[in-house]
Amino acid sequence: MAARILIVEDEEKLARFIELELLHEEYEVEKAFDGRTGLEKAETGKFDLILLDIMLPGLNGLEVLRRLEKSVSVPVILLTARDSVMDKVSGLDAGAVDYITKPFAIEELLARIRVALKLHPVSSSGSFGQDPGALCWGSLVLSEKSHTVTYAGQPVTLTNREFQMLKVLLENQDVVLSRDTLLDRVCGYNYIGETNVIDVYIRFLRSKIDDVYGVKMIHTVRGVGYVIKSLPSGSSAR
Ligand code: CA
Repeated sequence: MAARILIVEDEEKLARFIELELLHEEYEVEKAFDGRTGLEKAETGKFDLILLDIMLPGLNGLEVLRRLEKSVSVPVILLTARDSVMDKVSGLDAGAVDYITKPFAIEELLARIRVALKLHPVSSSGSFGQDPGALCWGSLVLSEKSHTVTYAGQPVTLTNREFQMLKVLLENQDVVLSRDTLLDRVCGYNYIGETNVIDVYIRFLRSKIDDVYGVKMIHTVRGVGYVIKSLPSGSSAR
């Protein structure tokens, strides 16, 4: 199935030009010429990727991005003007996966689109099948309902015990959990064995999440245990 791309760009000629190139590459395309319409379309249509201009009438691109982050998890590539380093930084902080500076060569944009679609596939259930009770940390989402963990939309494969451990840590963000507590919660009260199995699960979780995505999620508190520190709201765990 062709990937669906939304272009939010107020320069209509540029939007039209990108649209033609994307159609030529057999993507499905929709356009919006202002921020508010863009946000509306993004929230109601199922897109695999959004190209988002920053300087937009009505609602600017960064504001669109911030609002989107709360509702829809679709990879966003920002279209930025030259010289706006702050915009790029704020954009990436707000959750964009990439940006491209205008004017750009269309080949470069197409290449970045291919990369973004490959690295950030939107799960088949789309952004709208999301579990409202899911536990989140930045781009990480743990859904107990579907027993899945994703990072920026990519599936993370965990064993049952790793899943349980991550769940307990996510439920208790900013609370340092001792190995005994974790053992009780993960292995059950009847578990007879060494508490250092906890260290082993922590190591597995780090190798599957922290190491793969270059984040520091699980912190060791020496002599006490482990903690996941909550992220300031609106920031992504990149
Ligand atoms: Ca613009």
